[in-house]
Amino acid sequence: MSESDVEAALDGLQDSGGAASGYEDDDDAIIVLVSAVEHYSYCPRQCALIHLEQTYEENVFTVRGRLAHERVDTGDDAANRGVPTLRSMPIWSTRLGLRGKADVVEFHEGVPYPVEYKSGRRHGIHADVQLCAQALCLEEMLGRPVPRGAIYYHATRSRHEVSFDERLRRRTVELIGAVRAMLAAHELPPAANDARCRNCSLVDACLPQVVAEPARLRGLQSVLFRAWDEEESEADPRRRTHDA
Ligand code: SF4
Repeated sequence: MSESDVEAALDGLQDSGGAASGYEDDDDAIIVLVSAVEHYSYCPRQCALIHLEQTYEENVFTVRGRLAHERVDTGDDAANRGVPTLRSMPIWSTRLGLRGKADVVEFHEGVPYPVEYKSGRRHGIHADVQLCAQALCLEEMLGRPVPRGAIYYHATRSRHEVSFDERLRRRTVELIGAVRAMLAAHELPPAANDARCRNCSLVDACLPQVVAEPARLRGLQSVLFRAWDEEESEADPRRRTHDA
């Protein structure tokens, strides 16, 4: 499959409407974004804050990540010159109700090979499941097996190759189902309040130390409502008379 064959195949897929049609009518049909799979794997609450509540905060890690993706879009990081490559490629799976964008898809002798760009060092299994979700989309879109891909880490300027074995595929499909169930339930999962929170850009919105300790949360709620009651009494003279 040459680069022009791939582009022609993509044009055909986009003309046919891709995965977007028919997926918004009921809970089973909720579309899951590929990025949500990584977020859920890292912390289900983080995933809910971003994808249910549209909360987004920048920190040093998210800024680095954004800059890393911008460099990919300009082609500055092309590691395999001479290999047919598509950048910022829209991807989807109708079967899994999944949609997203692949940073880079290389074609090694016609075999699609997704490459995800990350700032920093190893993101471990969380990045691997995101990449595997991309591979599942590409297999369905292009009708070809996608056995491997890679994560490129800017901090070490190195590629970590990921093999999409059965175990990783199963884990990825489970996570897609878990994200969909969470979106359907419209509920924030409990806070992890552990080492993950140190590097999380959503720590100020999430307040893990507060919400993970029910006694502390109850104390804060009582202070909050006492202050609110006092304000209401000040503002409403009838209530002041009645209370007196
Ligand atoms: S602060 Fe911690 S619990 Fe809250 S979203 Fe981030 S990682 Fe999850």
